[in-house]
Amino acid sequence: MKQPNALFAAMGTSIFEVMSLLAKEHDSINLGQGFPSGNGPADVRAKAAEALEDRPNQYPPMMGVPELRQAVAAHDKRFYGLDVDWQREVLVTTGATEGLLACLLGLLNPGDEVVLFEPLYDSYVPILRRGGAVPRYVRLEPPAWELRQDRLEAAFSPRTKLVLLNNPHNPAGKVYTREELGCIAELVIRYDAYAVCDEVYEHIVFDGRRHIPLITLPGMRERSVHIGSAGKTFSLTGWKVGYCTAAPALIQTIARAHQFLVFTTAPNLQRAVAYGLGKDDAYYRALAGDMQEKRDRLAHGLGAVGFTVLDSGGTYFINADFRPLGFNGGDEAFCTHITEQAKVTALPVSAFYAGGGVEHLARFCFAKEDHVLDEAVARLGRLFR
Ligand code: PMP
Ligand code: GLN
Repeated sequence: MKQPNALFAAMGTSIFEVMSLLAKEHDSINLGQGFPSGNGPADVRAKAAEALEDRPNQYPPMMGVPELRQAVAAHDKRFYGLDVDWQREVLVTTGATEGLLACLLGLLNPGDEVVLFEPLYDSYVPILRRGGAVPRYVRLEPPAWELRQDRLEAAFSPRTKLVLLNNPHNPAGKVYTREELGCIAELVIRYDAYAVCDEVYEHIVFDGRRHIPLITLPGMRERSVHIGSAGKTFSLTGWKVGYCTAAPALIQTIARAHQFLVFTTAPNLQRAVAYGLGKDDAYYRALAGDMQEKRDRLAHGLGAVGFTVLDSGGTYFINADFRPLGFNGGDEAFCTHITEQAKVTALPVSAFYAGGGVEHLARFCFAKEDHVLDEAVARLGRLFR
């Protein structure tokens, strides 16, 4: 028989699925794959249930239901001061994952170069490679994850077509500063490139920070795609409702790819997300505030167990250096060890590096009820006492 696609045939299953299955097998507390405990806001779920019964369930418009596109435009104005034409500049996608896929397929030609920041989310590289594009990595390193200007400049070339920026950054918990974003924007403009911005954690930023979308920087409005996700903003990760905002020429081409990937997204969920995006500022403040408390709770607990805990300025992840615990082995071995022996699961940060070399960090998701976090810490404490 002829071989299937070489790239996907040679690839393993995503680390998120692998570790979640291992967690299940060992009946372990799963702080690996990033998803909140709880079932999402009751009022948003009620809107979805209502729409399921009372509104049409046949194919919604390919670009998304009007009320959600209007809500995304209003959201972008309210939080970022962006003037967005909901009819020409917003595309609803089946999660940010599909939005990213549509952007990469829609914007890239074979041979184009894409600048990416390591560590990185696992869906980016297989998709752009499948499209024949070439990744150019800028390496961020723990514990501070600072963006080095020399590395950034070295990744650009006349073949650079786009920059794929994840901010706030999973798994680093890094929130890019305005200065760093300015450097990125300057290079994107200099090389006449695009920026696809995975900003799914836009509302989960801590310590008084505010998220700055790259699209709001001077010269970036026509070149950038801003991608958000209801999964993160409403703690409903299973819904897979995402949204892209970009200039008409970009959205139009991205939508051409989207129409053949999924065409559309469940209409009742879209309508519920439209309602959700209109929630008052207190909702958004509470989301970030609650997550910040959880971050502090888990950071404190892991610190007391003996980990060196790295800072997290956003997302629902913190990274912990396990070397002070005296564990003999790399991060994959460590994450398997704590799953089996403590019944707590985390993710090996090396899984997010294409180039390897960082094998001393475990990523923990803190978007869980307090008693779950406390129990996880207690179990780790017993193992490493
Ligand atoms: N990008 C990043 C950085 C993520 O952490 C996630 C979360 N799964 C996604 C994209 C995917 O978002 P969605 O579930 O909306 O597809
Ligand atoms: N974004 C989530 C994480 O980083 C998981 C996404 C997924 O399971 N595909 O853990």
